[in-house]
Amino acid sequence: MKSITVLGSTGSIGTQTLEIATQYPEEFRIVGLAAGSNIELLAQQVQQFHPEIVATCYEEKLPELQEALQRLDYSPIILAGEEGVAEVARYGDAESVVTGIVGCAGLMPTIAAIKAGKNIALANKETLISGAPVVLPLVEKYGVKLLPADSEHSAIFQCLQGVPENGLRRILLTASGGAFRDWPVEKLPEVTVADALKHPNWSMGQKITIDSATLMNKGLEVIEAHYLFGLDYDQIDIVIHPQSIIHSLIELQDTSVLAQLGWPDMRLPLLYALSYPDRLYTDWEPLDLVKAGSLTFKDPDHDKYRCMQLAYSAGREGGLMPAVLNAANEQAVALFLEEKIGFLDIPRLIETVCDRASSYNTQTPTLDDILEVNQTARQEVLSAAESLNTVTA
Ligand code: NAD
Ligand code: MG
Repeated sequence: MKSITVLGSTGSIGTQTLEIATQYPEEFRIVGLAAGSNIELLAQQVQQFHPEIVATCYEEKLPELQEALQRLDYSPIILAGEEGVAEVARYGDAESVVTGIVGCAGLMPTIAAIKAGKNIALANKETLISGAPVVLPLVEKYGVKLLPADSEHSAIFQCLQGVPENGLRRILLTASGGAFRDWPVEKLPEVTVADALKHPNWSMGQKITIDSATLMNKGLEVIEAHYLFGLDYDQIDIVIHPQSIIHSLIELQDTSVLAQLGWPDMRLPLLYALSYPDRLYTDWEPLDLVKAGSLTFKDPDHDKYRCMQLAYSAGREGGLMPAVLNAANEQAVALFLEEKIGFLDIPRLIETVCDRASSYNTQTPTLDDILEVNQTARQEVLSAAESLNTVTA
């Protein structure tokens, strides 16, 4: 039996992880749960999974959580705030921690888990993109495993099993193309939040769904792949594959190409990150190639979607720049979701902020540097957005 802790337990990744735990009660035991504001669902999860410790990241939600858990017939430790979430991450005998928190907010809890010797099932890509210069040395130092739970990176990781060192030539990340893949570029300035939230293939949290619409998600995944697999940026390519059946591919030195296929279902990469290196039997619908029909591919359109190139540039620049890109994106997406900026302002604002950051980039950032740029980049997006609005008003 493997004991696991789930961070972001009420979100898309969190609830799918807990579905797996429900389906495999003999395999997985839940040690800790942490989430945000959905106290009702968090309390239900506590009731069902009996974790030893639970936290909400909002201090002010503590009384509500305590009250909701009062009637339980056992007493878990109940915490709140950032430190509460970090305590859940490091607590007890959990072997693996699933990071389903959205955004750079996942960084400190992930570091806490690594320092406590936990393996990380990494869904929260923003943590690695912002924090890799600090996170990767800690993974090494504490001898823990960083296992990808993002579907593309899980696909690559699965394909790499048995590939000798130096056998890999490049990887190909597949992208669905997001909500606007069939929209003409001229319509992009007017798209609404509701339009952008309609993902054609995957049901996910709001932030990653907007990132999919701008294709920043793919850009972030390029940086994620660089850090996870140690490849140069010119060995990482993107191909649009609207059906999302091939989850990514690797090309070997002899030009042989390996791919991992399946229905678009996040439970599969999550399960593999938890069962690795074992393969558990599931009764999930097997892939039927005839039902899937045709699998098609095309080049990504870098003029329509500028975020991919912004991510490649930030990744190549390295140091703090991926953290700046990520923070600027988080803030710009938040403004778009609040309907304060237009869809195409997202790449505009990110580019402005990344350009400014080149002057203070350093190749050997500390954790404090990363936390600081995470704040300053957000501030800069806010002030650049103000002047955008003044200009357009
Ligand atoms: P979501 O918005 O559905 O869920 C986020 C969860 O994190 C919620 O439970 C929320 O309450 C919680 N949370 C937010 N801030 C927190 C904090 N500071 N402390 C504790 N909990 C906090 O998001 P999601 O779609 O599940 O995505 C989670 C992460 O997984 C993101 O980094 C995303 O990029 C990545 N990811 C998601 C999918 C997917 O299919 N949803 C696929 C690949 C990668
Ligand atoms: Mg992905």
